[in-house]
Amino acid sequence: MKDYLIRGIDRLGRLRVFAATTTNLVEHARVTHNTSPTATAALGRALTAGVIMGSMMKNEKDILTLKISGDGPIGTILVVSDNKGNVKGVVDHPSADVPSRSDGKLDVGRLVGRNGVVASIMDLGLREPYVGQSSLVSGEIAEDIANLYLVSEQQPSAIALGVLIDKDISCKAAGGYFIQLLPGIDDQDIEKIEERIKASLPISTMIEQGLTPEDIIMELLGDFDIEILNKMDLNYNCNCSRDKIRKVLISLGREEIEDIIEEDGKAEVVCHFCNTKYQFNKEDLAKILVDI
Ligand code: ZN
Repeated sequence: MKDYLIRGIDRLGRLRVFAATTTNLVEHARVTHNTSPTATAALGRALTAGVIMGSMMKNEKDILTLKISGDGPIGTILVVSDNKGNVKGVVDHPSADVPSRSDGKLDVGRLVGRNGVVASIMDLGLREPYVGQSSLVSGEIAEDIANLYLVSEQQPSAIALGVLIDKDISCKAAGGYFIQLLPGIDDQDIEKIEERIKASLPISTMIEQGLTPEDIIMELLGDFDIEILNKMDLNYNCNCSRDKIRKVLISLGREEIEDIIEEDGKAEVVCHFCNTKYQFNKEDLAKILVDI
């Protein structure tokens, strides 16, 4: 089944919901970065959150960067997405791993760290990017992002993100949902949602069992009157290009490029998001000097 996201709204204005399956794109990230099982779970949760958050932006050229910087062994997790379902991500230490928790679950909180910062940086084509930032709560990512929305946008939400790792360490199932409470909601409705979440299976189990984003919304919010607004395919997609990498080299400045020509006579630049290697020989670098 293809990864996709759906967005829905309660007809009585009580809530907004986003639900996504991301199994394929998380597996793509795992293969690209050769992540350990716990790192796959951490990056997979962040990719799922990032692609959902990206879908909330209005314009095609808007770019969202989600940055999770904890004090755990994985280092910083960086995810970049747009509003068309494209997402990519990278972590500082993909092979870092930690022992599982006593209940057998992967200890994402420990790998990410419980002290640190989560930030969302939205480049909306304005002069300054829009930045929201908050402290990590648990390093488990879903809670951290729910807190980020509460602190930076006063937006209360229920967020679940899950990645299930198979015996061969591939990604077996991944996905998540954001339920955002709107001003029209009352305490009784909130209680209903909390009860449904408590009674339902973990999100990664639901996806493993074959539930679609539509099924997941029905499962959690069947008591509400949800209208599905749109559906979007999701992909791990890096938009790097030789031209963009060339611009990065230009931004290094004349002296730096002259040094590279003198010392190595060539440059190899690797895109950290997709591992594509870009080679620039002496001639290419000389042309870059002309453009500086
Ligand atoms: Zn790339």
